[in-house]
Amino acid sequence: MTTPAAPLTPPSPSGLDAVEQEIARACRDARRARAGVTLIAVSKTFDAPAIAPVIAAGQRVFGENRVQEAKGKWPALMAATPGIALHLIGPLQSNKAREAVALFDAIHSVDRDSLCEALAKEFSRQPRRPELFVQINTGEEPQKAGVAPQDADAFIARCRDVHGLTVSGLMCIPPADEAPAPHFALTAKIAARNGLTKLSMGMSADFATAIAFGATHVRIGSAIFGTRTRPL
Ligand SMILES: *Cc1c(COP(=O)(O)O)cnc(C)c1O
Repeated sequence: MTTPAAPLTPPSPSGLDAVEQEIARACRDARRARAGVTLIAVSKTFDAPAIAPVIAAGQRVFGENRVQEAKGKWPALMAATPGIALHLIGPLQSNKAREAVALFDAIHSVDRDSLCEALAKEFSRQPRRPELFVQINTGEEPQKAGVAPQDADAFIARCRDVHGLTVSGLMCIPPADEAPAPHFALTAKIAARNGLTKLSMGMSADFATAIAFGATHVRIGSAIFGTRTRPL
C-alpha cells in the first residue's frame, strides 16, 4: 500500500484554473498557440492576502488600474516573488508618469500627446521602458478614455515620430451594452494597418471572443478573484 504523494504545488484558486482552461479552449478553437495569449490577472481592489494564493499558483502577470493603489501593495509582493510583471490598465494622469514608469512593466492607456510627453520625459530620466499600448475608444463613448478610431493612425504616428515612443499594441474596452466582437475587430484592424502586433482586449465576460479576434493580452479580474466589493 502506498500513500498518495503530497502535491508539489498548492492547489490553484478555482477561478484561475477555470480561466486557464477557458483560455486554452479559446486558443484551440481559434487555432492559436496558448503561448500567444498573456493572461493579465486584474487584482484591482483586492488586497495582498487575496492576491498571494494566485501568485502561489504560478500566475506572474497582474494588472492594476490605479497607480496609488498599486504602489501600496505591489512592491512588497514583488520583493517576495521575483519575476512578477505589473501592467497599468487604467487611465494615467501625466503627473503620475514618473511613478508609473518606475513601477509598471506595461502601460495600456496611452491616449494623448500630453501623456506621451510626460512618458518621454521619464524615459530620459529613468532606465525603465514599460511596454506601451495605445487605448482606442472604439465605442466613441464620451466618458471613456482612449483615442477615437478615426484619430488612431495619426496619434500612433505622433507617438513614434514626435514623441520618440515605441508603441507595441492597442487596447480597447468595448461599451458595456454592446456586443464586443465588432469592437475587437476594429481594434485588430487598426493595429494591423499600423504594423502593431499586440492586442490588449477581453475581460471576464468576453475574453474567449477577444482571443478569436486576435487578443494577445486578456485582462481578467472578477473571473479569477471573484466579485469586487469595493467600487473601481
Ligand atoms: C477592471 C478591469 C478589467 C477586468 O474586468 P473583469 O470584468 O473583472 O474581468 C479589465 N480591464 C480594465 C481596463 C479594467 O479596469
